[in-house]
Amino acid sequence: GKHAKIFDAHLMVLEDRMLIDEVIKGIKTQKLAAEYIFSVILKKFIQTFSRIQDEYLRERTSDVSDIGRRVLKHLMDESRLHDFDNLNEDLIIVAHDISPSDAVTMYNKKILAFVTDIGGRTSHTAIIAQSLGVPAVVGLKDATLKISNQDSIIVDGRQGIVIIHPDAKTVDLYQKEQSRIIVSRSHLEDVRDLPAETLGKKAIQVLANLELAKEVKVIKKFGPQGIGLYRTEFFYMNRVDLPSEEEQFESYKSVARGMGSNPVTIRTLDLGGDKFISNVQIPKDMSPFLGWRAIQFCLERPDIFKTQLRAILRASVHGNIRLMYPMIAGLGELRRAQTILDEVKANLREEKVPFNEKMPVGVMIEVPSAVMVADLLAREADFFSIGTNDLIQYTLAVGRVNEKTAHLYQPFHPAVLRMIKRTIDAGHNENKPVSLCGEMSGELSQALLLVGLGIDSLSTSSANILSVKKLI
Ligand code: PEP
Ligand code: MG
Repeated sequence: GKHAKIFDAHLMVLEDRMLIDEVIKGIKTQKLAAEYIFSVILKKFIQTFSRIQDEYLRERTSDVSDIGRRVLKHLMDESRLHDFDNLNEDLIIVAHDISPSDAVTMYNKKILAFVTDIGGRTSHTAIIAQSLGVPAVVGLKDATLKISNQDSIIVDGRQGIVIIHPDAKTVDLYQKEQSRIIVSRSHLEDVRDLPAETLGKKAIQVLANLELAKEVKVIKKFGPQGIGLYRTEFFYMNRVDLPSEEEQFESYKSVARGMGSNPVTIRTLDLGGDKFISNVQIPKDMSPFLGWRAIQFCLERPDIFKTQLRAILRASVHGNIRLMYPMIAGLGELRRAQTILDEVKANLREEKVPFNEKMPVGVMIEVPSAVMVADLLAREADFFSIGTNDLIQYTLAVGRVNEKTAHLYQPFHPAVLRMIKRTIDAGHNENKPVSLCGEMSGELSQALLLVGLGIDSLSTSSANILSVKKLI
């Protein structure tokens, strides 16, 4: 009873005559879609509320926006949402949120840039934007309130700045900057075919992160020495069925062949967190990053896991494939995963299906507990790949997709650096190579530090490969 009172405020908004009348008037006079008119008027309402002196009333802003979002959801046919297929002019998207599965559908579409209210620098939406070469600024909190349809804006993805209604001088400045970037990129080309080696003669492998198999061609232009992280979960998104073994096999084979003798590190399904698929209903936990995710999910759904493992093993004879498990928290999980892999191998042997018996199997180190037992994991894994995007969030208790605490998400935190060093040392003690495939690999100041800490390879978005190589 007491808590139900919260909904009184919601009902009051819903029954507000002024709101209803304005929407009806808007539809009649402007002859535009109900959802559009409603959202414009709602924005005005929210702005008025957020300026009220009275603190109690001001706090009701979140109720207004909450109920507004629910009304909008009902007004909109969800299947029509985020339909990027029918764009016929170049545009910038400004949205409250864009999910990673929506972001991948921006591939080869007429999207110049996007801007969101929520999200963080290492959210998968931001990662996808970078790999598709779409400039983006995420986590601006109120971009959708401040920017209107048809506004002219500049999106500066490098600095995380959005300029609304830029004046002629600013436009000129940015056009010059754009030309400068193109020139400086072409200057990086000269390192493309050189090995990445420090002045002290330590060779560092510079590898690429891959999300979509069809990106391989583009990635190869930057001369990576292999794929250090193939995020296979995007294969499972934007479809209602699960990808079959055959479909996966063909795709993994094409990536392996495309990379020739260079290694291709295929990470098994890392579902959950901010990545969801339609076929498997994962309860939307209050904190999905602590929920049913990655290897935890795969170990409980061996049917889905085995299909993927079979496809990877079968593809392993077509190139230099390595397999990697995500989110391993300890030795028990690694052993359970290996037992399932052994079963799959035994079946293939029985069926006389060829696969690489010596395919290396590595572990992602992205959970603090894995760092603490890295010495034990190093004895049973063939290599490590440090996933700092997750390791930072779990170490500092700061979500990677949370715009409110983005300033607390600190790659240079001494605890994070010690975790990285400890992992590298644990790997090296067992003569196992240690790679790093989080966003830290592509940030030059961070990559520099990682080289100093003894990392063997850096895997990053294709856009950063040349600059990282040049740095080394
Ligand atoms: C990481 O966590 O650093 C990582 C590389 O994996 P993902 O970003 O896909 O979670
Ligand atoms: Mg991760």
